[in-house]
Amino acid sequence: MSILKNEFVLDSLNCISLGNEQLLVQIDNGYSERGSKTELVWLDTTGKEVRTEQVELLGYVPPTPRQESWKVAGLTPIPAAWGVIELLSGPLAMVNHHKVPTYAAGLRQSWHDSWPACVAVLLFSAALAGVAWRRHQRQHFSHGQLWAIFVFLLGVPGLVAYWIMNPRLAHESCPSCGCEVPRNRERCARCAEPFPEPQPKGIEVFV
Ligand SMILES: [Zn+2]
Repeated sequence: MSILKNEFVLDSLNCISLGNEQLLVQIDNGYSERGSKTELVWLDTTGKEVRTEQVELLGYVPPTPRQESWKVAGLTPIPAAWGVIELLSGPLAMVNHHKVPTYAAGLRQSWHDSWPACVAVLLFSAALAGVAWRRHQRQHFSHGQLWAIFVFLLGVPGLVAYWIMNPRLAHESCPSCGCEVPRNRERCARCAEPFPEPQPKGIEVFV
């Protein structure tokens, strides 16, 4: 009988008295590709196994943990959230549901179940961080590395927040080096030469 053997993967167990001094134990052993797997064990009054049957019932098959992880990746492609799921909530939930004996085993199982989706999320966010980084360089803003890390950790919401908080500046040609640079400062962002004072138009008012 596999009750003890499957201590950490057992889904549920039901006992039914058959009325003929026998007890029928129904053990749900997860799912196959076509349905659920159930083990039936008949016990006599001394607890001895009288008969054992493996039954496969055709029907609904829930998504595998790996399929679930792809779904989560599609809904929440945010590395910071994945860090919490991979390192905390996932392993701890497995321990709480007695699917694994220790946190370390939960960590290994969590990574085994979701590493393809996790890697995809990381690569996607790295690409978004690259977009923010290139834009930051073109705009000659400061703290580009911090913003790239911010976008990498928060994914799409991070990139949207980056765009909102770093609006595009108008660019003009630098008279010294000819590069297109922002004119919201006194010196060129490329060659560091000071911009010339604007030519007077004769309508200026001096007080
Ligand atoms: Zn310049």
